[in-house]
Amino acid sequence: MTPQSIKTVEFEKPNLAGAQNAAGASCVAHAWAKVPPVLSPDERQSLKARIRRLLKERNAVLVAHYYVDADLQDLAEETGGCVSDSLEMARFGRDHEARTLVVAGVRFMGETAKILSPEKTVLMPDLDATCSLDLGCPADEFAAFCDAHPDRTVVVYANTSAAVKARADWMVTSSIGLKIVEHLHAQGKKILWAPDKHLGSYIQKQTGADMLLWQGSCLVHDEFKGIELDLLRREFPNAKILVHPESPENVVAQADVVGSTSQLIEAAQKLDATEFIVATDNGILHKMRMAAPGKHFIEAPTAGNSATCKSCAHCPWMAMNALTNLAEVLETGRNEIHVDPVIGRQAVTCINRMLDFAAAQKRNVRPSADLANEQALFQGIGPA
Ligand code: SF4
Repeated sequence: MTPQSIKTVEFEKPNLAGAQNAAGASCVAHAWAKVPPVLSPDERQSLKARIRRLLKERNAVLVAHYYVDADLQDLAEETGGCVSDSLEMARFGRDHEARTLVVAGVRFMGETAKILSPEKTVLMPDLDATCSLDLGCPADEFAAFCDAHPDRTVVVYANTSAAVKARADWMVTSSIGLKIVEHLHAQGKKILWAPDKHLGSYIQKQTGADMLLWQGSCLVHDEFKGIELDLLRREFPNAKILVHPESPENVVAQADVVGSTSQLIEAAQKLDATEFIVATDNGILHKMRMAAPGKHFIEAPTAGNSATCKSCAHCPWMAMNALTNLAEVLETGRNEIHVDPVIGRQAVTCINRMLDFAAAQKRNVRPSADLANEQALFQGIGPA
């Protein structure tokens, strides 16, 4: 086993001096991430066997994101856990009977799980696994931004701290953000959106809603290059282009399908094509290949003439989830997530609104019309 090392990470951070006026500009900031050790095949097999045993002994369930290591995704599926996007991870963790949730992802995912299930123990392989969107939206600056715009309904992306969620009216994930903003727009609401500027701008264009955008970005998706994608499409003229909406506008504009991780996997299965160019974290390719065997998946370019490859299409913080630290936290009970109960009680409202809204969608209740008659069923979805 090679020892763990540290790497520095550059990401785009909003220039908060301008934030209260017009959502400000951006500047480059620095953070760090741990690089997990490289394991031999034997070490991987023995760690996987240990983790399977420990999950049983601890009555714990593994909830993993599509962007984490393929071994962790496989373990989650084969032990009765879940591999999914943030929306489904939140719902699965809340509804599962296990007393211990092990969340393989980044910190805001562990916090969301704890907020929804304060009575459960929530562990994470590494509590330092963060997110450039979360880092770029500090709670105090965000509160000042909200204070400056009291006439707006505050909608925040899941990729934020518990303290930012505590200030929000609604939380959304990329799989349901567009529908929720459509619903709010139909109610005549003006929106304050944070933190991802690309996703916010995409939703604004699709819905026509009045949205004031925080200027954060995901360091993985922000790196996809429109010019190089255009060149790659010419090499693979039959390929369908699958794009996550955290990507820049000139990448989204070339997409055949724009959607959340789950929606992109579904498109890879259902579309009548054998080649796909995929603009999201390359951790998703493991699930895509399993869901659509025989199809060919190509990573969208983060390099080329306009390259500034900071992530090379893989999140350095998602990569901190490894077999070694997963086994360790199960063995020791270390790395428990705690959320201040007061903040948790404030934050849970905006998360429950989203989960109730998603449940309404499943029941085929139209948000803007029928929902008004369904308040008894969906208590969380009211005027924000
Ligand atoms: S992939 Fe982007 S949005 Fe997801 S955790 Fe990493 S930095 Fe955050």
